[in-house]
Amino acid sequence: MAKVYLSPAYHYFNRCAVPGCDETTHNNLYLDELTVYLTACGIDWRRGTRRTPRSGEDGNELMIRAVEESDAWGADVHYVSHTNAYDGTVRGYRPMIYPGSARGRRLAEAMMAERRKIYDQPITLFERSDLYELRVPSAASYYEEHVFHDNAEDAQWFHDNLRAIAESAARGLCAYFGVLFVNPYESQEEANTVSVELPMIANGSTGDAARAAMVLLRDRGYYEGNLSSTDKLFGVKAEAAAKAFQRANGLYVDGVVGKATWPLLIGK
Ligand SMILES: [Zn+2]
Repeated sequence: MAKVYLSPAYHYFNRCAVPGCDETTHNNLYLDELTVYLTACGIDWRRGTRRTPRSGEDGNELMIRAVEESDAWGADVHYVSHTNAYDGTVRGYRPMIYPGSARGRRLAEAMMAERRKIYDQPITLFERSDLYELRVPSAASYYEEHVFHDNAEDAQWFHDNLRAIAESAARGLCAYFGVLFVNPYESQEEANTVSVELPMIANGSTGDAARAAMVLLRDRGYYEGNLSSTDKLFGVKAEAAAKAFQRANGLYVDGVVGKATWPLLIGK
């Protein structure tokens, strides 16, 4: 299983152009989204200390610990999530890799290709030998500066697109590892949809579906009289209720709960 170590920025002192936010907070919000995708794609991940703002820990120590954890775990990719700042006028995605790293470059190309699909600002890859989290990890290291958080438009774009960015990063990592991308939200939708064939219910029908039809007719106010907890026979009263329901809903009135009546009864 491919392993990605996630290392969020610990720069709570870098204020974001979005009021009340800072670099640590929005990078952690982003990683919250990314981990859902990685899990769905079958990519194993570990995440450095959440580094919530002002946790009181030393930033350098946390960074050294993150790399130690990443190496001890045997990560394939060391993924560093930051945002940039300049003078408030600059926008752009600026990922970084270690100079001359072939796997770093291959990963960067996969990631940048995905980012280009959702982001129309400049995208530039940098090679840096001076950054600890690029130089030291055993894994292929990828250090993202997603946007310029001191630019109002860039910061807002980041906040508005956390999930889309997470999806693009997951797609890039899947491409790098040669793993099939799985969208967790689509597969969840499928899992929540159940398709069943409902039988035709008429006077004399019995069983669970007959009871379901009667319960629905009662709940909608068409079944007159009592329905015992074990009643599964769709009788004369139920037929009359079905007819009343059909009349009220502009259906053909035959007292038979079939293809046309079921969907309205269920409320689809
Ligand atoms: Zn922010």
